[in-house]
Amino acid sequence: MGWIIPSAGTPILFQDLVQAFLAVLDGSRAVQKFETFFQEYLGQRYCFLVNSGTTAFYVILKALKRFSNRGDVLLPAYTAPSLILPINATGLKPRLVDVSLETFNLDVEKTGLLLSWETLCLLPVHMFGMPCAMDELVDVSKNEGAFVVDDAASSMGAVLNGQLTGTLGNVGFYSFNRGKNLSTLSGGLICTDDPELALAIEEEREKLDAPNGLSKLGIAAKVIGLALAVRPWFYTLFKPVISGFKYTALHPDFAAHQYTGLQAALGLAIFQRAEQIFKVRTSNGLFLYRHLAGRKGLVLPKILPRSKPAFNQFPIIIEDEQKRDLILNEIVASGVEATVLYPYPIHEVYDLGYDLTEDPFPNATYLSRHLLLIPTHPIMRRDDLEKVVQVFDQHFPKMN
Ligand SMILES: *Cc1c(COP(=O)(O)O)cnc(C)c1O
Repeated sequence: MGWIIPSAGTPILFQDLVQAFLAVLDGSRAVQKFETFFQEYLGQRYCFLVNSGTTAFYVILKALKRFSNRGDVLLPAYTAPSLILPINATGLKPRLVDVSLETFNLDVEKTGLLLSWETLCLLPVHMFGMPCAMDELVDVSKNEGAFVVDDAASSMGAVLNGQLTGTLGNVGFYSFNRGKNLSTLSGGLICTDDPELALAIEEEREKLDAPNGLSKLGIAAKVIGLALAVRPWFYTLFKPVISGFKYTALHPDFAAHQYTGLQAALGLAIFQRAEQIFKVRTSNGLFLYRHLAGRKGLVLPKILPRSKPAFNQFPIIIEDEQKRDLILNEIVASGVEATVLYPYPIHEVYDLGYDLTEDPFPNATYLSRHLLLIPTHPIMRRDDLEKVVQVFDQHFPKMN
């Protein structure tokens, strides 16, 4: 029996863990240091760490509300459903926009039609680590006086026009949750260049509680688990246990807390290798792209010109819905944990008041039924990628 490659994975080394635990024992101001690190790395004047991407978005929304009475938040109908939680928690109204089946990201034209003087902010998401058309989206938002919150939760390291995703709006955020491009178990980062917004964000962040001693202990234990879980031998042997800790698609609520020093110290250690990790994500995705492009029955995403994706996973549309599960099972059986993230579009997860007798967001629904995701993290080796391509070879032969 071979080892299974997990669907998500940040390579955490033994020395990263040692460095993190020593730094905390030493009482170092790791959170502040990690924020300073990001100011430099992102080229943004203000950076704030919190306990999750969801909390980051929550803090941003609370800050934006201070500047405007508008109540609508526009977001893609196919993305992380948990984004609805902070919108509801701040008393704002989620308004969905359909996605494009070409780019798998927000449909720019439909976004323009839905933006209005009631729009507090637009939330463009760079799905699967592929930059979306931010230039156009920022332009149409500016015309309506709406803020742009750049959701780079799953696209850290991706670049558009020479700039990192997350830095392309008025304010942006990232996630360091398990499945993201780089993980410290959990975590969220807010960045902005706007001093007034930064002040409001800082005040809102101050209001968050520090995690208590028990949850800090829990985080410490899980951080060790995370480092082990990305080792295929460990993952294979302890899969039933690890599955219990996995991020489930829908959490009923979110806990907003501060980030921990241990995770910041771990992050500082892992980020020494960030460029390398993002580079492998890009090249693994492009390998799949090259080998699967131009096959009848598959649709690959259109990558924007002057963009460099940092693939969180590599997304593929399988036109024949019936075939998706078959392919998924065969890839998993070959030892690579492919997935079908977000099995439902947001309007099918939450009742947001839309009339569903005729699907208002058909492209989002289509993606949820047809997308298959292949891991691109650095634990995927060339022969793992080749195994995946071989499964496709059998069902979607190469055309000449
Ligand atoms: C994961 C994710 C989030 C939420 O981040 P958490 O740290 O899991 O709370 C938000 N937006 C997108 C696009 C994501 O992929």
